[in-house]
Amino acid sequence: ESCETAKAKAVADVASRLFGVSVGADAVIDESLQRATDDSLSIQDIKSDLPAVLTSDFSGDLTDEILRTHPLAVWTELAIGLKDGQKLQRQDPIPFREAVDKLANESHVATEICRTALVQFLTRSSLPETERGGTGSGAFLAFKLHRFISGAGEVFTTLTFRPRRVLFEGQLEDPEAPGNRLYPTRFCRRCGQEVHVVLKTQDGEGLRFLPRNIDDTPREDVEGDIAGYLVPVGDNDPEYQFTGEIESYPEDWKETYKGIERLRSNRKKRMLERLSIGADGRYAANGAPFWFIPGKFGFCPCCHDQPVPSMRERTKLAGLSGEGRSSATTLLVSTALEWMNGADSLLPPEKRKLLGFTDNRQDAALQAGHFNDFLFVGLLRGAILRAVLEAGSDGLSEYEFGLRVSRALGLSKDKKKTLVHWMLDPAVSAVGREDAQLALGRVLAHRVWIDLRRGWRLANPSLAELQLLRVRFVGLDDAAADTDTILAAIPGLADKSDDERRGVLETILTFLLQGLAVNSESLDRTVLDGVAQRSRGFLRAPWAIDPKEQVRGNTTFLLQAPGKEYVGLREEQTLLRGGVSSRLGRLINRQSVIGMRLKRDEFESA
Ligand SMILES: [Zn+2]
Ligand SMILES: [Zn+2]
Repeated sequence: ESCETAKAKAVADVASRLFGVSVGADAVIDESLQRATDDSLSIQDIKSDLPAVLTSDFSGDLTDEILRTHPLAVWTELAIGLKDGQKLQRQDPIPFREAVDKLANESHVATEICRTALVQFLTRSSLPETERGGTGSGAFLAFKLHRFISGAGEVFTTLTFRPRRVLFEGQLEDPEAPGNRLYPTRFCRRCGQEVHVVLKTQDGEGLRFLPRNIDDTPREDVEGDIAGYLVPVGDNDPEYQFTGEIESYPEDWKETYKGIERLRSNRKKRMLERLSIGADGRYAANGAPFWFIPGKFGFCPCCHDQPVPSMRERTKLAGLSGEGRSSATTLLVSTALEWMNGADSLLPPEKRKLLGFTDNRQDAALQAGHFNDFLFVGLLRGAILRAVLEAGSDGLSEYEFGLRVSRALGLSKDKKKTLVHWMLDPAVSAVGREDAQLALGRVLAHRVWIDLRRGWRLANPSLAELQLLRVRFVGLDDAAADTDTILAAIPGLADKSDDERRGVLETILTFLLQGLAVNSESLDRTVLDGVAQRSRGFLRAPWAIDPKEQVRGNTTFLLQAPGKEYVGLREEQTLLRGGVSSRLGRLINRQSVIGMRLKRDEFESA
């Protein structure tokens, strides 16, 4: 009683503040509830009937009339729905698991049986009465089921020997082993090697590693505290490349001086250091062995992957879950929709809907855009993959991209039922359908090319990057066989095998392809305007090219490109930089690849 008055008073106080007039507790009207089941029945009355009911099945008629006195309905309403008292009140929500335990306790029936029965019962009784053998359209008991899903967050581990404790919350120490410090842990994007984010510091007792936030970017010139990373050493792991020897540093970290390999002078400060560290983060002779990487993350000691140096540290190294909230929401929603429309779905077609809420408009727009984009890319890539699979060992040639991918999508002018999904005017004449099919083919061919671009979706790598499809270059074998031309360009290749030479050519061609420096009609800007316009005349979204879409065309490959300060953003999109410091340079300008390391002017004039 007093709790109720206190509640009314709190509501009245808020109302007074909001509206600027004094509102008394007596002005607050509370809801009044009615029981759905027979109000002469209490839990005591039905308790002895529960075991029999729980072990029966619920597929027969369950009309409102039957449910009014149904023992499980009475129990559900009184034990988890309402607080019985002089005045009926809602109970506080409880986890489903707790409701099951309560039912098992009171009925003395096994928990698993109670669980199944409660799930079936709640599902059935929430259907319209017409589907339970009656005539009404309402549910019997209204209930809401909430499921809370949150992101994976950061992962923390100790520095002890394996197996190590892995925790998700930012505590300082392992709660089960006080003194064992926890460190934020991230992973190499290529091989998954774990990397701990640390600060190397000194105190009265000597050296100590402390956990650090990865966004606190390591400084290049440091005295005292050194931000960096700890990576477990790879002893006995044949795939772990770094051993501490000079030769196990990446190629562009080393140089040869008077016949001896050594670290380049600008890398010396970033030399890796081997340390044994105890669980408290201090030096310990019997601790686990780690490599300390001072400064920014330059290369993965395990797989030698070298993230682009200008990237943010947070981007170089993946967290526990790679995707953000919008990707997660999109996946949850699309999975729910897929289930809803699947063969096992019990829902009538008109009820297969899903409503999303968010607390601001920007986020709603962002999420909606992400959802459409994600599903479209999934659909397109699924179709490309299917077209490639259907093409068999001959593969899919450029001229067939449009036709074969439309076919894989099931969008054909001859399938009358599908026309509404892609044609602007499905009722158009046969000639119009022909034109629409042609327009669709050209848009899809363009999309196939664009999707081969490298790394344009970090969380969603392309089919080629996932190695689900392989690009074969027509004429590569002939070009590789033309040794004279190749050696004239790169004499260092003389010592290499045919396969190695072929590999270099393939790397260059792949680089050109992934940068879209390709001569294809589907990427020709002068043609694309027409393609885009015709697509809008014949096709509906998302198949037409939207007028707001910045259509990407092919690029021009430049060995000596003008500095970024001379090039506008628009123009930059039409260039593919291939100088000595570009990705191409880093890929091929190596002793191991082309037999020599070219200087800038040598490389850029080759
Ligand atoms: Zn690895
Ligand atoms: Zn790696």
